[in-house]
Amino acid sequence: MNKIFIETIDRGDGKKLYLYSQNKPNYKTFSGLPPVEGNQTHLRFHPTRSEWVAYSTSRQNRTFLPNAMECPLCPMDTEEKASDIPVDQYEVAIFTNRFSSLRMEETHVPELEISTQSATGTCDVISYSSNHKDQFSELSQERIELILKAVAHRSKELLNNSHIEYVLPFENKGKEIGVTLEHPHGQIYSFGHIPETIKRQSENQIQNPLLETIAQIPKELILHENTSGISFVPRWARYPFEIWIVPHRRVSQVYDLDDEEIKNLSRLLLESSKMLDKVFNEPMPYTLAWQLAPKGYQDSHHLHWCFQPIKRSKTKLKYLAGVEQITGFYLVDLPPERSARILRGEEQPDE
Ligand SMILES: [Zn+2]
Repeated sequence: MNKIFIETIDRGDGKKLYLYSQNKPNYKTFSGLPPVEGNQTHLRFHPTRSEWVAYSTSRQNRTFLPNAMECPLCPMDTEEKASDIPVDQYEVAIFTNRFSSLRMEETHVPELEISTQSATGTCDVISYSSNHKDQFSELSQERIELILKAVAHRSKELLNNSHIEYVLPFENKGKEIGVTLEHPHGQIYSFGHIPETIKRQSENQIQNPLLETIAQIPKELILHENTSGISFVPRWARYPFEIWIVPHRRVSQVYDLDDEEIKNLSRLLLESSKMLDKVFNEPMPYTLAWQLAPKGYQDSHHLHWCFQPIKRSKTKLKYLAGVEQITGFYLVDLPPERSARILRGEEQPDE
């Protein structure tokens, strides 16, 4: 992988700030925001779903849609305006969320009549830019490449930790999806266990390799393709305008990609996010999942990205209501074939 510059700053309390840049940086540093005291977190076992549920005490006090002056992801120019990224400028930054739902430190786990355990893991924030007004779809391709390299570096470090079983980089975009900070950013959740849905997805890929499914994607669903990967609307889309980006070569982690693949896949990610914003000529609210292999599935899992937008017309959101929430069985109004035509600009979306 082409060299990038990585600077690590100790933020106290075992937390680190990583600064990634393409050009040799020269940071002016400040004290920044102090650690959050007394954050207690633990897991309880859901008896019928057979899954863990996390409980955290500090998350109710999180910063909620601050303006640029109080934004914890904006850089600092004086000691007065405190930030989670206490430097005067940066390109891409990753740091441990002060309001982490998962923690590497020992915390009090209550003894109850059901199974409980410590919420092992960690929650990182990845800031895409020091500019508060930027959006993923407006970043340069070089910046998206740097984001991929930053995630490659950090996810490798996290997966090298014997307490971590699974790493999920993702982005929530838009107020409609519950974003609490406007500053362009994603998150990286690292789990001490493999969530059930993820385990099932990876198990299914052992029998049905994703690469074989991708080989049959028809032209009417393809959005873009280059020498390293393909972007398309899946025939099985559960969300309006859902887009998948899949590398041509099977790799299980971002850090397995070579420079050429990082460049070409960054192009597909950028083109896809631009297509989504163009549908209604305004930023499309979505979640973007980076599907990395959980531990134990690196020989069968195929790395891919999924955009899951929640807007089905200019004025209507796709809510996950009763059936979806209760059963996980999705009801979809917009046929994937039509989504693909709209995304390619061949057909108009609904008002
Ligand atoms: Zn900001």
